[in-house]
Amino acid sequence: MKNGFEIAVIGGGASGLTCAVKLAKNKQLKVLVLERGERLGRKLSATGNGQGNLTNERVGHGGYFSVSSHGEKRAEEIVEKYSKADFLSFLESLGALCEADEKGRVYPTSRQASSITDLFRYRLERAENVFVCTKALVESVERKNEEFVLRCLVEGETKTFYAKNVVLCTGGTAAKNFGTDGNGYKIAKAFGHTLTPLYPSLVQLKTEKEKIKTLKGIRVNDACVVAFSCGKEISREIGDVIFTDYGVSGDAIFRTSAFVADKIDQGTILEIDFLPNVSKERLISVIAKKLESGANPKEVLCGIVNNQLGRVILSCAACATPEAIACEVKSFTLPVLGSLGFDYAQVTKGGVPLCETDENLQSKKQKGLYFAGEILDADGECGGFNLQFAYSSASVVAEALLQQGAKKQ
Ligand SMILES: Cc1cc2nc3c(=O)[nH]c(=O)nc-3n(C[C@H](O)[C@H](O)[C@H](O)COP(=O)(O)OP(=O)(O)OC[C@H]3O[C@@H](n4cnc5c(N)ncnc54)[C@H](O)[C@@H]3O)c2cc1C
Repeated sequence: MKNGFEIAVIGGGASGLTCAVKLAKNKQLKVLVLERGERLGRKLSATGNGQGNLTNERVGHGGYFSVSSHGEKRAEEIVEKYSKADFLSFLESLGALCEADEKGRVYPTSRQASSITDLFRYRLERAENVFVCTKALVESVERKNEEFVLRCLVEGETKTFYAKNVVLCTGGTAAKNFGTDGNGYKIAKAFGHTLTPLYPSLVQLKTEKEKIKTLKGIRVNDACVVAFSCGKEISREIGDVIFTDYGVSGDAIFRTSAFVADKIDQGTILEIDFLPNVSKERLISVIAKKLESGANPKEVLCGIVNNQLGRVILSCAACATPEAIACEVKSFTLPVLGSLGFDYAQVTKGGVPLCETDENLQSKKQKGLYFAGEILDADGECGGFNLQFAYSSASVVAEALLQQGAKKQ
């Protein structure tokens, strides 16, 4: 049948590429990959600041979230089924070597994310049964009789493809510049799927500005950021905090955002300890000695924190006692008002609820329709958890389709 395929993979990102490479194993399966961008894996090539933080030593011990209840457990199960070790041996089978850094983040030894995209691309070029079509935006998918009809805009021309199975790997709605504008959700909804609320995650946070308006551009290394929602501690991250004109950025904030993204409306507060390695008692004693030796209260934090930050801390302290000043250094509070949004976020929190899919990530609403990657309501912490989920979920789907294909032969 012309333009007819066993499987159509929509989206040539991390999950779509994984799925297609795995499906390449069965040469009897005619597979089509449709990617709207000019190239495959554009986002994958940009991951980890271009170095490709592919997975994490901590994968398998939590680190995943879900907006809908029980989704988190399903996400963990998917990642257990196709684990970090499986991902690394899969990458090795493509020809990549990986190594972990001191924080447990796993990178290719090339330290070049685009080299991983290239490995996927080369593998698919060699696969006789996989056809890749770039600059191909899938606009709609319909089920007619025993097959799916995919209407696609290919370089300005409308084309129709037919497939017995469809894998939706269109990603979420974060970082639209990589082709992920959430259009895959529309395709899912057309088959009766629902969508959880969506939130930008792994993103800079907007906070109350008045308190920090003179701190723009100041970076504090190795601060401890504790987030509270409804008075309960929900995260604790150590890393850089950078003050900006909208609020705070830096890697500690970025990681914190994964925990607070869906709780901002409920009142989230950041408590920053600028000196986590100095005890409060020691700080109180140093400040007390300075004051006793006749130091002007204005000088009291000089040499302890950044001068400008010191001035802001002093202006926020309830009074000029060593205890009150030390308290402000170690528990500087900032209410979170929002985030920089999807355009700046790396990941979408929320998506198609996992409970609407079976154990193979096949739709419970439409037989033959599968989901993998960020389109699903599963997101991970910063540090390789999201690419691992893209790999694991795509592997679940690919293995199910391979088994189905094997049964038919
Ligand atoms: C800048 C940046 C850095 C990141 N760094 C890391 C990192 O180091 N480690 C980590 O774990 N995660 C990282 N992430 C997150 C990670 O990249 C994503 O979670 C992951 O790529 C999701 O994989 P996916 O296959 O679901 O979607 P994507 O990789 O986003 O791929 C979806 C693809 O579908 C295509 N598409 C969408 N709609 C259609 C359509 N209708 N028709 C045809 N094609 C379509 C898009 O063009 C896109 O190529 C980063 C994200 C960003 C933005």
